[in-house]
Amino acid sequence: MAKKGITRRGLLGGAAATAAFAALPRSTQAAGRSADVIVIGAGLAGLTAAREIAQAGRSVIVLEARNRVGGRVLNHALGSGGYTELGGMFTGPTQDHIQALATEVGIGTFPTYNTGNNVFVGGGGRREEFPNNTPFGTAPPDPVVAPDIALAVTLLDQMSQSVPVDTPWTSASAEQWDRQTLDTWLRSNTSGSDEFMAVTSAATEAIFGSEPRELSLLYTLFYIAASGNEQNPGTFERNFNTAGGAQESRFVGGAQMVPLQVAAQLGARVLLNQPVHRIDQSSTGPVTVYSGRHFRAFGQRVIVAIPPTLAGRIEYDPPLPPLRDQLMQHMPQGTLMKFEAIYDTPFWRAAGLTGQAVSETGPIKVTFDTSPADGSFGVLMGFIGGHEARVWENRQEGERQAAALQNLATYFGNQALSPREIVEFNWSTEVWNRGCPVAVLAPGTLIDFGAALREPVGRIHWAGTETSTYWNGYMDGAVRSGERAAAEVLALL
Ligand SMILES: Cc1cc2nc3c(=O)[nH]c(=O)nc-3n(C[C@H](O)[C@H](O)[C@H](O)COP(=O)(O)OP(=O)(O)OC[C@H]3O[C@@H](n4cnc5c(N)ncnc54)[C@H](O)[C@@H]3O)c2cc1C
Repeated sequence: MAKKGITRRGLLGGAAATAAFAALPRSTQAAGRSADVIVIGAGLAGLTAAREIAQAGRSVIVLEARNRVGGRVLNHALGSGGYTELGGMFTGPTQDHIQALATEVGIGTFPTYNTGNNVFVGGGGRREEFPNNTPFGTAPPDPVVAPDIALAVTLLDQMSQSVPVDTPWTSASAEQWDRQTLDTWLRSNTSGSDEFMAVTSAATEAIFGSEPRELSLLYTLFYIAASGNEQNPGTFERNFNTAGGAQESRFVGGAQMVPLQVAAQLGARVLLNQPVHRIDQSSTGPVTVYSGRHFRAFGQRVIVAIPPTLAGRIEYDPPLPPLRDQLMQHMPQGTLMKFEAIYDTPFWRAAGLTGQAVSETGPIKVTFDTSPADGSFGVLMGFIGGHEARVWENRQEGERQAAALQNLATYFGNQALSPREIVEFNWSTEVWNRGCPVAVLAPGTLIDFGAALREPVGRIHWAGTETSTYWNGYMDGAVRSGERAAAEVLALL
């Protein structure tokens, strides 16, 4: 689709829609706006969809529940100066869509700090340092767990190649793979040792905010297949690695700069503080979207660009088909907290460490150096996910922070015990997220409900990273989904 910027036709489209609104009964006009398309959610998916629609010369309104845009992408101003990123932050090869969007709105990237040795802490506190450029990438080449890691990754990569990213439920082995969890498969196909299973938990807690026992094997294979693009089949390594993988780069100024810039282009089309609670397409008139007690938005088509579990909280008239409704009941969000310790300097670099660790013992089991590009201060970011998050989110803040800092000290030395600032963010307590980073699909979900994932219902269309083919769960998937939903709608206007 040609990029035309904000066009005269777009303004005319808005005028025509306003005229349609004027024709509505006076009582309906109390507080309302009208447009060709109403988009729900100003995350990357919704903003991308709106941008495409505006550029095609159609009128569009974005209704966002919060007083900010960006959704799961969020910059945080530090008390001691500078910022950190509480949500999506990394990008890497084959994530072409988020990177193209960032370039178009003037946001560049810089490499994630990745010089020196990574740290692995195994059973009994066994601490090892290893170069970050072994064939294992970010996975630890520790002799106790390495054979199982190599075996599992090789098999999972191979199996994922037969999973079509647009219809994983049609894979020849779909039934067999969607009746078991990642956990049961790992225990049957590797040594299943306690140490290896602890390492797989460390990985899934950071990637999915969940445990191997919660994840359908088919969904896991789909996620691996999705870690690529149309030219490059997905691999686990591209998902998990820093060099050559999804953690390779970061956005200048923080990832939230991308949605902030897109929203600035959309201007008054983005309405904040508009939590949508009802969508009515019961008549032949415009679809009516309700927010708050009085606000109504009227459109020819609606794009719901929010996570399925939140879409399931909206009331629909007429009710959605049962398969769609139950799909949304089967897609809970993962449980993931970010813990960030801020230091005067990135002291671990002088000790030859990348700031990346993988550990069998939590609460923090995976870390990154997320200091600013110029290294003017140090940030160690750790994920507390899955079971660890469910246990530790309920503990006293002081107890949790002491345990997290002790993890960092084990990985990077005792200087880690004295940060100048600590930032913690629990996405499960955010009412407009209900968890993160992505929906977690248990066995049976893709096979029975997958077909409803992107299928429009009347004049309602679905976007959001959970609907993406490639890089599902990532910023790239969100952008892709917004582009796809916009194309779907534009073809029908
Ligand atoms: C801790 C964490 C780490 C992550 N790390 C990475 C990473 O390094 N790299 C990467 O690529 N991805 C990462 N992700 C994932 C990435 O952030 C998401 O995939 C992406 O931002 C999702 O965008 P979205 O537009 O689909 O959904 P969202 O960002 O969830 O946007 C949905 C929007 O809809 C709004 N909304 C919800 N309900 C309603 C309603 N009823 N009415 C109106 N508005 C509503 C929400 O407030 C939100 O703004 C991470 C996510 C988290 C949380």
